[in-house]
Amino acid sequence: MKPSDITDDLRPFFFKDGKYLDPLIISVTGHRDIWPDAEILLMDSLSDFLTDFFKKESKKRPQRPIVFLDGMATGADQLVATVVNEVRNSFDPGFITLIAVFPMPEEDYIQDFSVPETQRTFEDALDCVDAKIALSLTRSNQELRNRGEKIHRTEQYVLLAEFLANSCNNLIALWDGQNFDNPKPGSTTDVITRYLNPADDSIVSLQEAIEPYRNRERCILTKRLKGSLITLYTPRDSFLKQPNLLYPAGKTAIVTFPKSAQQTVFKKMDKIENKKWNWYKEGLHFQCAGCGGCCTGAPGYVWLTPEEEKQIADFLNISLDEFEKTYTRMVYGLRRSLKEIPQSNYDCVFFNSETKRCSIYDVRPAQCRTWPFWDSLLKSKSDWDEASQSCPGCNQGPLIPFEEIEIRRKKISV
Ligand code: SF4
Ligand code: SF4
Repeated sequence: MKPSDITDDLRPFFFKDGKYLDPLIISVTGHRDIWPDAEILLMDSLSDFLTDFFKKESKKRPQRPIVFLDGMATGADQLVATVVNEVRNSFDPGFITLIAVFPMPEEDYIQDFSVPETQRTFEDALDCVDAKIALSLTRSNQELRNRGEKIHRTEQYVLLAEFLANSCNNLIALWDGQNFDNPKPGSTTDVITRYLNPADDSIVSLQEAIEPYRNRERCILTKRLKGSLITLYTPRDSFLKQPNLLYPAGKTAIVTFPKSAQQTVFKKMDKIENKKWNWYKEGLHFQCAGCGGCCTGAPGYVWLTPEEEKQIADFLNISLDEFEKTYTRMVYGLRRSLKEIPQSNYDCVFFNSETKRCSIYDVRPAQCRTWPFWDSLLKSKSDWDEASQSCPGCNQGPLIPFEEIEIRRKKISV
């Protein structure tokens, strides 16, 4: 945003004593359908990242405020707004501002939140914001409205994507990295690709569409000279169906604004990725000591694929239906996990606490077969060291070569 683009209601966040403060503007984008289990992890990661970021900024440029532009949609937008609102309490009042940007007039946008639960979270999220702005209807939508017809909502979401992408210095994206080649109009990936490839011609048409900025000499959208795309790997509700997950939830990647978007983003992500899985290049020692510790303890999940379910049901000589009812539970209506026994220290239902053995050892799920070579335990040496505190088999026995570890790690993302 440039000084000439600021409307009166936004002036207090951008000017002090008549002087333009040139704030650092951060737009927010992300998936609506975040996998519920990842939410806490994401909030923690984001909170750590923002605390650190705000500290550095307040030291480097104490006079330069930070302004967030956030669409406030269900999921990522609201999650970021909540975290920003919490984290900013530790900084000077006025240093961090949160502005809600609606893709259409508020009375239209509110229809996206017709379910009572989403309406409540939307209202809660709005409690955090300092100001609201609403993009006006596009010309064609205005015509539809004038004729008493339904507006095309996607058109408004494209407008929002363009606005968020082109009004900021930095973009925070809670994203799963998918569909980069073919982004759905108005989606998270669409915002990211627009941020990375600002298109002059679309800015012109957008200029005409934005109220109250219409008829201004200069469009609210200005190209960034320099900025960063900050992505937090964010699994979606459907992620359990994706076989090849690369990044653990909450992973932060900061990508300095690139010239050629796609290649640069992925090259940098690959570099980070390779670096992460590099620390055990020489292999790791492991030999199970048979203590049974990984089949008991704190509550958790032992995920099952449909094939594994069938295999275990056959092994037990029962029907699939009986197996599911007796030994499994459905998690978030998405995927089955083995049951645990809360009265017995959350033992897995197939753990024999007397022999300390798995009673379905030959057909145990991939998650059990691949332990302890899981993403979550291998992401750094300290994670591995932490795991070795509870698993006496880690760092013992024969050396498992890097290639073998990778085969196991990539079998399932845990
Ligand atoms: S915690 Fe480690 S040593 Fe104990 S049973 Fe599990 S893999 Fe084996
Ligand atoms: S299925 Fe077997 S190996 Fe896996 S957690 Fe249960 S008891 Fe342990």
